[in-house]
Order: sequence, then structure tokens, then C-alpha cells
Amino acid sequence: MSELYDVIILGGGPAGLTAGLYAGRSRLKTLLIEKGPDGGQIALSADVENYPGQLLEGETGVTLAARMAAQCQRFGVERKRDDIQTVQLSGEVKRLVGGRETYEARTVILAAGASPRPIGCENEAAFVGRGISYCATCDGAFFRGLDVYVAGGGDSAVEEAIFLTRFARKVTIIHRRDQLRAAKSIQEKAFANPKISFLWDSVAVKAEGADVLDTLTVKNVKTGELTVIKAAPEDGMLGLFGFVGYLPNTGLFAGQLPLENGYIPTDRDMRTAIPGVFAAGDVRVKSLRQMVTAAADGAIAAVQAERYLTGLA
Ligand code: NAP
Repeated sequence: MSELYDVIILGGGPAGLTAGLYAGRSRLKTLLIEKGPDGGQIALSADVENYPGQLLEGETGVTLAARMAAQCQRFGVERKRDDIQTVQLSGEVKRLVGGRETYEARTVILAAGASPRPIGCENEAAFVGRGISYCATCDGAFFRGLDVYVAGGGDSAVEEAIFLTRFARKVTIIHRRDQLRAAKSIQEKAFANPKISFLWDSVAVKAEGADVLDTLTVKNVKTGELTVIKAAPEDGMLGLFGFVGYLPNTGLFAGQLPLENGYIPTDRDMRTAIPGVFAAGDVRVKSLRQMVTAAADGAIAAVQAERYLTGLA
């Protein structure tokens, strides 16, 4: 028989770690399950400038997430590294079946976050790790002195393009429109950076190379014109970073919970359609997906889980 937890939190990003902090402080028997590094998407972020109070020089998503995890563990939250394969959310005891173990709890907080959306160009999968990446913090240094292209026009694309100028000779943002979606303050920094240029109204359509990425075809979506970009012979390689949004990690819950465009609808107290099942962070339907709102969701979900367990809600 597996141990019965009061609450299992699925996901170790800001939503899950904050839920852990609050559940731990409430002395709930809490287990947090994460399959990858702590922090979720913020672990991919080189710079965190808009989390309240975050003014530490040199703070990255990884260092901030590590402190969140330490704070969570201080309150007795158990941790397991496992990849959950199936979930059974209905009934009084919820069951999560992972590659390593099966876990049971009276409440569950789904905080599984989101994953990078593929750029959508031909041969993309074949060049991941050989020129194509979705994480500038992880892979930027491999492109020292090279030409790098960034697909996307949101906060992630523009912030990470700025970060990549530390390594790359030149960074070109390929955006499908002629206006960026990124916050104005981030845009201003990019426009002022002499290493950054833009290919407007354009999308990357094809990646090629004998071994590593050395040729990229870009299409102008207004004119249909194709431009073939080749790595300089002395470089032998190009970089292409994809930041074209994220897809919620909710495939596991399809069929058990209603989804809206792949996201989990909740009420204002993070309750899903199933009693005892809460959702927090980027997996849920919401208007602003930021670390600060993920953390707030996690806090509310944990407090509501406690109320559910004590019969107050
Ligand atoms: P996003 O805001 O959804 O932006 C995605 C970008 O990719 C958009 O510019 C979009 O173009 C483009 N795009 C989408 N699908 C595409 C496709 N198939 N081909 C080419 N381009 C495509 O995603 P994000 O930048 O990753 O940000 C996600 C969330 O995290 C947002 O809420 C953002 O504010 C937040 N975030 C915040 C910060 C910060 O505050 N410091 C940093 C990173 C992320 P269109 O503009 O034409 O739709």
C-alpha cells in the first residue's frame, strides 16, 4: 500500500513550490512530484526582473527556484522525482501512477506548467541540440561568436535575444508580424542593442545541415518570398532559438477534467470540476501567466486544499 498524503502537488515550478510552502506551513502531509529541474519555465530564464523584491544582482531563474525549493522543504514537504504517466482524479483518494511509484492523496494540486511550443519549421526535431534550442540560458554559450536567430516576438523571445547577445556575434529576431508583443520596456532594450536586428513579417520554415544547423530558410508571410540564410564558412553553424509561446502540460488530465484550449478551467479558489482537485499556474485558464500569478495561484490552491480536507469548503 502506498502512503496516503493529504496533498500531492504535481509540478515544481513557482506555482507548485508556493503551494508546497503553504501546504507545509499548514502541516499537511505534502508530497511534491517533479520530473525535471525545479523552477519549470523559470529554470530556462537567465534574468528575472519582475518578481516583486527581486533586485539581486546575478539572480537567475535557477537560483530563485532553488531558494523557493529550500523554503518549501524547510516546512517538511516531501519530494519525489518521477514522471507521472496516468492519473485517477475522481473519488476520495486520488491516484497518480509514475514511472517509479504509485502515489495516493486526498487532494491534488495540478501545477504541471507548460512546455515550449515548437517553432514549426521543417526538420525542427532533427536539429534540436544541433543548432536548435528552446533555452538560451542552457545553450547560449555554445553559440559564442556565431550568428543566432530567435523565433518569436513576445517577452521570452526578446528577453532571451538580449541575453544571447552576450555570446553571439549577431542576433536576429524573426517575428511573424511587424510589431513585437513583448512589454515596451523589454522592446526598448532590444531596439537599443546594436547586436540585435529584426526580420519582420517572417517565419522560419526549414532547417538544414549535414550534421549541425548551417542553413535556415525564412519566409516572408506577406510576400511569400523565401530567403535562404547560410552560416559563414568559417562558422559552419547557425543557432535558432524558439520562443513562440508555450503549450500547457495537460494531456494527462484530458478525459477526466474539462479543458479550454488545452488549459484547465478553475474557479477563483483554484478548484477544478473535480472535488479535491485544484489547478495552479500556467496549466489553468487565466489572463496573465507570470511567476507572480503562478505563486499566488499556488498559495490559494494550498489554502483551499486545507479547507477541503478539514471540511470547511
Ligand atoms: P507569448 O507571449 O505567447 O508570445 C509568443 C510569440 O510567438 C508571439 O510574439 C507570437 O506572435 C509568436 N508566435 C506564436 N506562434 C507562432 C508561430 N507558430 N510561428 C511564429 N511565431 C509564433 O509567449 P512568451 O513570450 O513565451 O511568454 C509567455 C508568457 O510568459 C507571457 O504571458 C509573457 O508575458 C510571460 N513572460 C514574461 C516575462 C517577463 O515578464 N519578464 C518573460 C517571459 C515570459 P504574435 O505576437 O503574432 O502572436
